[in-house]
Amino acid sequence: MKVQIPDRSIEVFNFTGGAWKKGSGESFVVLSPYTGKQIGQSFFSTRENVDEAINMAQSVFSKWSQTPLKERTQIMFRFREILLRDIDKISHIVSSENGKTFSESKAGILKGVEVLEFALSLQNMDSGAKMEVSRGVHCEYRREAIGVVASITPFNFPAMVPMWTIPIALTLGNCYVWKPSEKTPLTSLFIAEALKEAGIPDGVFTVIQGAQEAVEAIIDHKYTRAVAFVGSTKIARIVYQRTSQLGKRALCLGGAKNHIVLLPDANPDICGRGISDSFTGCAGQRCMAASVLLAVGDVEEQIEKIKQRAESMILGEEMGAIITKEQLNFLNQAIGRAVEEGATLLLDGRGQKPNPEYENGYWLGPTILDNVKPGSEAASVELFGPVLSVVRCSSISEAMDIENSVDYGNACSVFTANGALAEKVVQRAKAGMVGINIGVPVPREPFSFGGINASKFGYGDITGEHSLDFWTDIKKVTTKWEMQKDHNWMS
Ligand code: NAD
Repeated sequence: MKVQIPDRSIEVFNFTGGAWKKGSGESFVVLSPYTGKQIGQSFFSTRENVDEAINMAQSVFSKWSQTPLKERTQIMFRFREILLRDIDKISHIVSSENGKTFSESKAGILKGVEVLEFALSLQNMDSGAKMEVSRGVHCEYRREAIGVVASITPFNFPAMVPMWTIPIALTLGNCYVWKPSEKTPLTSLFIAEALKEAGIPDGVFTVIQGAQEAVEAIIDHKYTRAVAFVGSTKIARIVYQRTSQLGKRALCLGGAKNHIVLLPDANPDICGRGISDSFTGCAGQRCMAASVLLAVGDVEEQIEKIKQRAESMILGEEMGAIITKEQLNFLNQAIGRAVEEGATLLLDGRGQKPNPEYENGYWLGPTILDNVKPGSEAASVELFGPVLSVVRCSSISEAMDIENSVDYGNACSVFTANGALAEKVVQRAKAGMVGINIGVPVPREPFSFGGINASKFGYGDITGEHSLDFWTDIKKVTTKWEMQKDHNWMS
């Protein structure tokens, strides 16, 4: 479907105490990557704005956390219905401010709904364990909300990444403060309105617009108990350090440089689609995108299929735009530098444009660099665009040495028809999410999402069952009601 780009500038403010309120800082604009035109405006939040919002969230925490789980879940059921009712409207906004195609935006929201459905199931599984540990003495676990929790999100999935945490954190009884990317703040308007319509009590869900100052104020606030962050490794590290130094819980997901190990026996058609779609999807702006193709031996037929599929992509229809003009310039220059260093261009997307309507947008067609040297910029730095760097290898062992040498650890996939070879790659991969004949190995709920090494600071994962401990404290209750005749050391 063609993206409906707003023809007026939409204003979005902070959402605090159930009402929209302008931040006191300077204004900033939102440009559509499709057209380069302004489609929105917002205001940076100051420390005072953040303090006021978090105080308000804290003031309603006790009531919300003591609301029975089943009642909180009912609100989230309504939230799901509203999101699905409005999915097209929200998808157009996500695409307009982020540059994704309409179907990519819709898929991102549906993935968010999947996390929401996991959260809805918590009422059935979060009963805790209880047993008689000694005669007349019972021990039980109780999972309790921790308080005001915050989530700082990146530009590249304006709805999906926040939806990794909103449903689980809220359903478990926390008050949630969201700081969206200042590049894509408009989506927060629609998510907050959906939650309000669903009946979320005032103050339980807060949106703070802004950037560094707002994030620092959120982390530092005495009532903020936990911070989940998703973004670049550089900022993930800063946020992790600042939050944990204050003795607070932090889970900070960073950037990536994902590898695909391509073996000669791989099915060329599966490779053509799977690998091409992995590096061109969302114009390469996703933390799970294929970035380096470790081509082991003679894989020419498969590479030809990848190239054919990539060059058939229609910009503006099947492939979206790059987030900003600066990022587009960086990508064009990085491709140039790789060629100067000896890489060969199998496919050059520079200068490609979609139809005239979008000619002032930020566009780069799929680009494939061959004979990229291990350790070079194109092989080791996260470029975050539709660029695939092919590194030639003579063995799986050499390929895995290259994969292991990169600091990141988000995703790694292998394409092969041989189960034993696939297992070899799975075992050696230094990545939190591994795929076999899958270009984007995102785990589906309840399997949790998260990388390792420089792709994640903190313990646990951000979705699924491995996220529950992050959003709760576990209280251990030991009970005795009657005097027992046969005392032992603990009763
Ligand atoms: P970014 O790190 O620039 O920004 C992320 C968030 O941090 C934004 O909300 C931003 O306002 C805030 N921020 C920026 N500078 C800050 C500072 N100095 N102090 C405090 N907060 C600051 O990331 P981005 O460009 O928006 O997103 C792209 C990056 O996110 C890529 O590296 C991508 O791999 C990564 N990402 C990772 C995952 C994952 O699951 N690991 C998922 C999506 C995106």
